[in-house]
Amino acid sequence: NQRIVLAARPQGLPVPGDFRLEETPVPQPGAGEVLMETLFLSLDPYMRGRMGLVKSYAQPVAIGGVMVGGTVSKVVQSRHPDWQEGDIAVAYAGWQRFALSDGSGLRRLDPAAPLSAALGALGMPGFTAYAGLRNIGKPKPGETVAVAAATGPVGSAVGQIARIHGARAVGITTGAHKLAFARDELGFDAVVDHKAPDFTAQLAAACPQGIDVYFENVGGTVWDGVFPLLNPFARVPVCGLIAQYNHPGEPQPGPDRLAVTMREILSRSLTLRGFVMTEFWDSQQDDFLRDATAWAADGRLRWREDIVQGLENAPEAFIGLLQGRNFGKLVVQLGAA
Ligand code: NDP
Repeated sequence: NQRIVLAARPQGLPVPGDFRLEETPVPQPGAGEVLMETLFLSLDPYMRGRMGLVKSYAQPVAIGGVMVGGTVSKVVQSRHPDWQEGDIAVAYAGWQRFALSDGSGLRRLDPAAPLSAALGALGMPGFTAYAGLRNIGKPKPGETVAVAAATGPVGSAVGQIARIHGARAVGITTGAHKLAFARDELGFDAVVDHKAPDFTAQLAAACPQGIDVYFENVGGTVWDGVFPLLNPFARVPVCGLIAQYNHPGEPQPGPDRLAVTMREILSRSLTLRGFVMTEFWDSQQDDFLRDATAWAADGRLRWREDIVQGLENAPEAFIGLLQGRNFGKLVVQLGAA
């Protein structure tokens, strides 16, 4: 078995030496178990949190432990009554070629469906966008919805779902290719470059009616630009803070703005509500899969994937994700169905 384990806890941005590629024997399924082979491994920003020890909603990966991660996996041996050789499922097998499962947490996939999309627009990140908008953002027709990481799997779905609800979508990203893709392929009504020196002015110009829903994916300087533009009664689903992930727990540079922020939350009647998508998964995944599948079929939900070949290239791709080097949903391909 080929697998990648956590070799060291990163200081700041992870480096290749924080990971180690290992060869181990392929495990054998016991009674009631299946042996699964990973076809696609999802690389996601939350994995940075699992590499550290800062208290979070999830347990850290142990030093020497296999890096966690969602996968699309194929059953290659089954001693489980519900699973046959050749079946395909969304699993949580981690950064490795083979893994055992007792069947819990597996979600069966149609082998004819676009498999890697089950890790992106039609899977966890797409659901995150759907659940955050449905339960917290609640965009209404004519309102303005802003989101950063706009070409990634969460942000691209946020913009498109906002438009499906009749809202105006403003996408924040950086670089000519991503900006053009967000506008021309994903249908954002306006796009803004968060690395432009006049980002704040560009954002204000792109949101002449202010912002009613800010889907918070990144924090940092983007939040600073958005906050003054939030309208009374704006809703902010706090989904991710990737700008901080490499410096967990450290104070942000600049003066302490908490008192001002709290005063504005009060006086503008803002709602900031954090969430982890698992809160809504059991009760809303069927609605999501039904809606997202329909939107994908009629072209209202589109996505781009950034597919890297070979497990050995996962660490470098993951380090790139934390710096915005991915363009679309980052997936590692290990095999073919
Ligand atoms: P993406 O594939 O969009 O990758 C992350 C992107 O973040 C980068 O490509 C880059 O995009 C952007 N980025 C990185 N650093 C910064 C920075 N300092 N300032 C602004 N943008 C930055 O990621 P996902 O779509 O998978 O995830 C988006 C967010 O949603 C993450 O914060 C993630 O942790 C969160 N999330 C939360 C979940 C929950 O349950 N709460 C579930 C899933 C995801 P660009 O080049 O456009 O700047």
